[in-house]
Amino acid sequence: MNNNKLQLEAELISKKINPTAMRILVYEYLKTQAEAVTLADIENSFEQSDRVTLYRTLKTFEQKGLIHKISTGIGTQYALCDVDCSEDKHRDTHVHFICNQCKKTICLTHVQIPKIVIPPGFQFDEYEVLAKGICEGCMTNSKPI
Ligand SMILES: [Zn+2]
Ligand SMILES: [Zn+2]
Ligand SMILES: [Zn+2]
Repeated sequence: MNNNKLQLEAELISKKINPTAMRILVYEYLKTQAEAVTLADIENSFEQSDRVTLYRTLKTFEQKGLIHKISTGIGTQYALCDVDCSEDKHRDTHVHFICNQCKKTICLTHVQIPKIVIPPGFQFDEYEVLAKGICEGCMTNSKPI
């Protein structure tokens, strides 16, 4: 096992996740993605793997505060969490950016959502802010040469 694998293993353990071979692979894959991924993206990258196992892996990651779900108009996507997420306590209070051109969803982890106040009598669970437009990559590509 190389250092990278050991590092991934240690990170999973720090989130109280038992580092099985499958979980290490999925985590490694998620870490190499610059933007959020769909379940289909993950399935395509792990064609040899059982879909149920993959789905359970994601579910565990989400429960343990390793990844968060993003509900976009085109379905659920997954992205790695900030370091301060933990079991059943997600603190991903950042804006998600959807690019109208490449359709990628990007975590703007440095853009925090302002706190909102929900009237008494409502149970507040979570809220999401989706920003839409053209991402940095697409803006750069569309510049005249
Ligand atoms: Zn989180
Ligand atoms: Zn884009
Ligand atoms: Zn995010």
